[in-house]
Amino acid sequence: MATVRFERLTKSYGSIPVVTDLDLELPDGSFTVLVGPSGCGKSTSLRMLAGLESVTSGTIRIGDRDVTNLQPRDRDIAMVFQNYALYPHLTVRENIAFPLRAVKTPRAEALAKADAVAESLGLATMSGRKPKDLSGGQQQRVAIGRAIIREPKVFLFDEPLSNLDAKLRVETRTELLQIQRRLGITSLYVTHDQEEAMTLSDRMVVMRDGRAAQVGTPLEVYDAPVDTFVASFVGSPKMNLVDGELTGEDFTLPNGFVLSLSQRISRGHVTLGVRPDDLVPTADDEGRATVKLVELLGPRAIVTVDVGGTELTCVVETARMSGITEGARVSLSARPGAVHVFDAETGRRVVGDQIEKGNELHP
Ligand code: ADP
Ligand code: MG
Repeated sequence: MATVRFERLTKSYGSIPVVTDLDLELPDGSFTVLVGPSGCGKSTSLRMLAGLESVTSGTIRIGDRDVTNLQPRDRDIAMVFQNYALYPHLTVRENIAFPLRAVKTPRAEALAKADAVAESLGLATMSGRKPKDLSGGQQQRVAIGRAIIREPKVFLFDEPLSNLDAKLRVETRTELLQIQRRLGITSLYVTHDQEEAMTLSDRMVVMRDGRAAQVGTPLEVYDAPVDTFVASFVGSPKMNLVDGELTGEDFTLPNGFVLSLSQRISRGHVTLGVRPDDLVPTADDEGRATVKLVELLGPRAIVTVDVGGTELTCVVETARMSGITEGARVSLSARPGAVHVFDAETGRRVVGDQIEKGNELHP
């Protein structure tokens, strides 16, 4: 096992920077997820760690070793891709044993080890099958087995669940997390899916345009996004972000609507953020907001509310939906301490003292 360090890692194609000054530490045994929109440099970062992509500048260390210029095979890394091509003519155990056979491990020894790996992945009963007789999730587990049989120091995943359907993706995600916890191998996982990042990671790195916008535990990032980009990228449905004037207890939207906050924050022009889960609609004939759309999800519903032409999203427990129907008038309040304030120019979070607990929004 090993700690991985990126030090000012930079990659450019010609004059186009793709990854810029990435500083990152993956603690020994941790599960770190790189998450961000398509094209932000996630795969490139991963591939530089794997040695599949050269580094323009900066250093990569695994444990005490500078591996920046080492060949991929000398890095003790295993990688699981989205396209986990298994050998169709080989059985599960032969597929898993393949990397050992490739380095001339005797057949009996390789297969015995493959059986142990298959067992640990819950594949023992199907170790004689060919890939075509497995489900997508089982095939993915075989691919993981093939990667772990060499006992790598570092495990890399590049969108390994993207090819699976939604239900299988969630199941395989859980299995993957259990496998990683059991093996304790330092892991770096790339995805564009913020939910996958939230559920899998010990630490997540939100990337934007080749830079780390924020690094933290999922809760740190969710509770205190550093800017409006992270705020809207992490969390589903998206955080409500509204520009307006914040003067004392009043927040005035561009359309003239006044939201009153039961806390004093004088900041002038700001972007106000409230997560849908923190914005509570209450049926109110005098209310000046209107329910535009109700989408039932089962235990919860997504409620879209119109506030004088501005749409806000609420997430409401189904048990608290009484009177919240399409067309109904509502008032809105935010849960105490749940308002995020961002600088309207830079989008940076306004931290600290100005934001007190116990706020309410009254449109
Ligand atoms: P992600 O995995 O976050 O979707 P990538 O790391 O694959 O993003 O790519 C980051 C950026 O680098 C993209 O804009 C992509 O077009 C560019 N890129 C990737 N590979 C090359 C290459 N070989 N030559 C030029 N540009 C590339
Ligand atoms: Mg990618």
